[in-house]
Amino acid sequence: MSFKSDIEIAREANKKPIQEIGAKLGITSDDLLPYGHDKAKVSQDFINSVQGRENGKLILVTAINPTPAGEGKTTTTVGLGDGLNAIGKKAAICIREASLGPCFGMKGGAAGGGYAQVVPMEEMNLHFTGDFHAITSAHNLLSAMIDNHIYWGNELEIDIRRVVWRRVLDMNDRALRQITASLGGVANGFPREAGFDITVASEVMACLCLANDLTDLQKRLGDIIVAYRRDRSPVYCRDLKADGAMTVLLKDAMQPNIVQTLENNPAFVHGGPFANIAHGCNSVIATTTALKLADYVVTEAGFGADLGAEKFMNIKCRKAGIAPDCVVLVATVRAMKMNGGVAKADLGPENVQAVQDGCPNLGRHIGNVKSFGVPVVVAINHFVSDTDAEVQAVKDYVESQGAEAILCKHWASGSDGIKELATRVAEIADSGVSQFAPLYRDDMPLFDKIETIAKRIYRADEVLADQKIRDQLRAWEDQGFDHLPICMAKTQYSFSTDPNLRGAPTGHGVPVREVRLSAGAGFIVVICGEIMTMPGLPRTPSAEQIMLNDAGEVEGLF
Ligand code: ADP
Ligand code: MG
Repeated sequence: MSFKSDIEIAREANKKPIQEIGAKLGITSDDLLPYGHDKAKVSQDFINSVQGRENGKLILVTAINPTPAGEGKTTTTVGLGDGLNAIGKKAAICIREASLGPCFGMKGGAAGGGYAQVVPMEEMNLHFTGDFHAITSAHNLLSAMIDNHIYWGNELEIDIRRVVWRRVLDMNDRALRQITASLGGVANGFPREAGFDITVASEVMACLCLANDLTDLQKRLGDIIVAYRRDRSPVYCRDLKADGAMTVLLKDAMQPNIVQTLENNPAFVHGGPFANIAHGCNSVIATTTALKLADYVVTEAGFGADLGAEKFMNIKCRKAGIAPDCVVLVATVRAMKMNGGVAKADLGPENVQAVQDGCPNLGRHIGNVKSFGVPVVVAINHFVSDTDAEVQAVKDYVESQGAEAILCKHWASGSDGIKELATRVAEIADSGVSQFAPLYRDDMPLFDKIETIAKRIYRADEVLADQKIRDQLRAWEDQGFDHLPICMAKTQYSFSTDPNLRGAPTGHGVPVREVRLSAGAGFIVVICGEIMTMPGLPRTPSAEQIMLNDAGEVEGLF
C-alpha cells in the first residue's frame, strides 16, 4: 500500500477563506488581520473585548517518552480538534509555530500529519506570519545595544567576560555556537567571546509565549539579565533602555495567528519556545484567547509528559491561571516496542511481548499525570503496521493501571477515525472531575522544587548537585527569585538523564550540571546533562530534498 505524503495531502486541502474560519469563533473580519487568504492575526482589541467571557474546557495532549519511531502529538492534537468539531462541539486547536532549523535539518514538520494537519503547511513550516523574524530582530537589537553600550564608554560597567546575552538566528548552524565578536580594530569595539543560539531558544521567545499582553511583555523584556558586573551584580535589559524598542518590534508578533485544519476548523498557531531551555508550549495569549472563543481547546506540550506536561502544568498553567480539564496521553504500539527493547529496524513484525515489556513507561506517565489531579485518557495513535493483538496488549495494560485507552485512526481517516476519543474527552472535560494542582508551591525552596520534580516525576532517588549550584540557588532566593518555578532541561528520551535508559527506570540519580536564571521569562533553568541551544544539521540535511517543482510548488517539505 502506498500513502500520500503530508505535503501531498496538504496541497489537496479544500481551504476556506480565513474570514470564514474566524467567523466560526465569532471573530469578525474587522478583528482579523489577514496575511494572505489563509492566515490571519487576531487583533489585540478583539482579545481585550472578550476577557469577561467564561473559559471553555482545556485539553492537553502529551505523550510517552519519544522514540525515533514517532508518537504523533501534533497529529493527535489536530485530529482531536477535528474530532470534537465532528461530534458537534465547538473546538479550537492551539499549537506552536515551526522553526526553520529543524525544517531544513531532519524530516518532521510542525503541522501534524496524514489527514490530521493544519494548512497552509508549507507556510507554517517556512516564514509564516513573520513572528520568528520579529523575535530574532528584537533579540539581536538587544545584543547590538549591549556591544554599543560598551563601545561608547560602558557606563553600566558591564564585565565583557560576563555578557550572558548571545545572538540568535532561526537556523541550525553549529559554526556560530562560539564566535569572537568585534574583531577588526578600534572602530569595531572591544573583542569578546560571543555566540549564537537558535531563535526558539531565545528568552525573548519564552517572554512572548508567557506574556499576558504587551505591557506584561515589556516588563518581562526589561527583567532579562544581559550581563554581570565585576562585583557579579546583574545588568538588566531595562538598564540599557532596550525594552521599549523590543516591544515595538514585537507588537504584531504578540497577536496570535489563526489558520485552519484540513477539515476547516480553527487552529491557533502561535509561539514556539524550545522545550529544553524553555517550557515548550504555544503562547499563553493564544491559549487564553481560544478558551474565551471555543467550548473546547486542544493544545500540545513538547517532548514526553515527564518534561512537556510537567512544564505545561508547573509553568504555563501556574503563570496563566489556567488548568487542564483532561489530559490525552499519546502512545503508539511502535514506541511501546522500542521502550520494550526492540530496535527501530525490527519494528515491522508483530511482537506482543515487546509491547508488554514497554508498557511500564506508559504506566508511569499515567500515574504522573494523575498526580496533578487531572483525569487522563490514553490515545493509541494507530500505525497501519500495528496488529490487533499488539493494540489489545496496550489496552489491557492501560486498563490494569485504572485508566482507559482508545484506538485512534485520525492520521489515516481524519475526524472519522477519532470520534470515540473525542466523545470520551468531552465527557471527561464536562464532568468537572479535574482538580488540578501544581506539583509544588511557589514558596518552596528552589532546591526542594527540583527534588520534588526528580522524585515524583522521574522517580529518581536523589538529586546530585555541587555546593556551588546549591549556593547559587540560595543566592537567587535572597535576591527575590525564590518564588520562580523550575524549567527542567534533560533528555526527552528517558525518565532519567541517560537517553538510553528506556522504560520505567528506578534507582537513578539526577545530576544537575548548571542552573540559569531566566528572570524575564520567570523561571530557573536546571540543566541535567547536555543541552543544545544551537543545533547542527545532520550529514544529509532535508534541505537537499527541498525545491520548487515546475508548477512552482514546494517539494520535499515532509
Ligand atoms: P510529535 O508532535 O509527537 O513530534 P507529529 O504529530 O509531528 O509528532 O508526527 C511526526 C510525524 O509522524 C509526522 O510526519 C506524521 O505524519 C507522522 N505520523 C504521526 N502519526 C502517524 C501515524 N498514525 N501513522 C503514520 N505516520 C504518522
Ligand atoms: Mg509536535
